[in-house]
Amino acid sequence: MDFNETFASPDAADDRFLAQVRVFLASELTEDLREAGRQTIGVHSEIHAARLWHRRLYRKGWIAPAWPAEHGGCDWSVRQRFLFEQECARNDAPVLFATALRSLGPLIIATGSEEQKRRYLPAILSGDDLWCQGFSEPGAGSDLAALATGARADGDDYVVTGRKIWTTGAHLANRMFALVRTRRGAKPQEGITFLLIDMESPGLTVVPVITMEGAHEFNEVIFDGVRVPKANRVGPEDEGWAVAKHLMRFARTNNTNSALLRRSWRGLQRCADQAGLKRDAEFGLRLASLEIELCGVEALELRLLGSGRLSGDDEAGASLMKTVATELNQRITELALDALGPLAASNGADDAYGASHAVRKYLATRAASIYSGTNETHRNLMARQLAR
Ligand SMILES: Cc1cc2nc3c(=O)[nH]c(=O)nc-3n(C[C@H](O)[C@H](O)[C@H](O)COP(=O)(O)OP(=O)(O)OC[C@H]3O[C@@H](n4cnc5c(N)ncnc54)[C@H](O)[C@@H]3O)c2cc1C
Repeated sequence: MDFNETFASPDAADDRFLAQVRVFLASELTEDLREAGRQTIGVHSEIHAARLWHRRLYRKGWIAPAWPAEHGGCDWSVRQRFLFEQECARNDAPVLFATALRSLGPLIIATGSEEQKRRYLPAILSGDDLWCQGFSEPGAGSDLAALATGARADGDDYVVTGRKIWTTGAHLANRMFALVRTRRGAKPQEGITFLLIDMESPGLTVVPVITMEGAHEFNEVIFDGVRVPKANRVGPEDEGWAVAKHLMRFARTNNTNSALLRRSWRGLQRCADQAGLKRDAEFGLRLASLEIELCGVEALELRLLGSGRLSGDDEAGASLMKTVATELNQRITELALDALGPLAASNGADDAYGASHAVRKYLATRAASIYSGTNETHRNLMARQLAR
């Protein structure tokens, strides 16, 4: 591997930055919050802890590492963002419910109207608004352009009818950014519009979908004549596909996969500890080989971030990162089950990170190769880009 300067060892500036982060974490990341971080099963921590941690980061001015300072962000370099995420993971900080911080906020900064910036950005930063993403539908997942939820223009509003599914946090969010169909075009990507929808709107119903590990994390959302003001549209009518692609670029850049892996890794270590396997030579080898892979993924992510390959139009870098990170995460949770052996089959109450935690984490992590684009579709994408 060509270790360029992006992957250089920490220098004095990094040390100063990390020292500040450590002081902050030592004072603000209480034991309760660390415990909520350790207990995390799905894509965000228990919502009260996630929101409390959000507010503390907001008060410190550190809630939006990638946003420009003029809009309330930290304007941190890629390397600082990476170091910060890693330090939070190593200290078991709660995982935020932060879709809008990563994707919608930067999109509104780049393309929203002044009114939209004024109205939405402060509440994304403070955490007063929680956003969910309404893209997938029963007949539109990997083939997202097949989406059929319709929006008919009526005066100053659109009237939206249809259904979205797998909407993470729709039961927690007060707002949704969604793709709807305003016209049937020659190509399926034509005639799609990007809307910002108030979850309290009359005609909107959220129906829980319970995951196989028994959690309520995502939902079906039904729209029955929901009125959405035209002022809530981002970008021109019928051109929402380009807006969504723009949003996905931000989502790719502002997401660090390896910090999530580091958290799973810490869970695996707790399982190995509990099972008395930390000094077992054979198990130790399996642990070591996964940790080497984890370090490799961290190095890869830092390099891709540093060379700008997780942003812009270079989708292959993000696809590579997504597939290797999620598959390694699945193997980490598999090894945790191996560590527990027959204990893993018990479903009773146990300590926080014992058998039932490991089983739920294992089950929840199966979804990682499906969400944010399935790994099969990411492999297609990488193959297409390499073939060019
Ligand atoms: C935990 C979780 C959270 C989610 N949260 C959200 C959310 O908040 N908002 C939202 O909008 N969506 C969300 N999703 C939905 C997610 O984006 C879709 O599940 C995903 O895009 C796949 O779509 P699908 O489920 O319809 O599967 P399908 O697209 O029907 O795919 C079924 C299988 O066929 C394979 N396949 C499909 N097309 C191809 C192809 N061209 N080549 C090779 N293989 C192919 C897929 O890889 C998969 O294995 C979430 C999903 C999960 C699991």
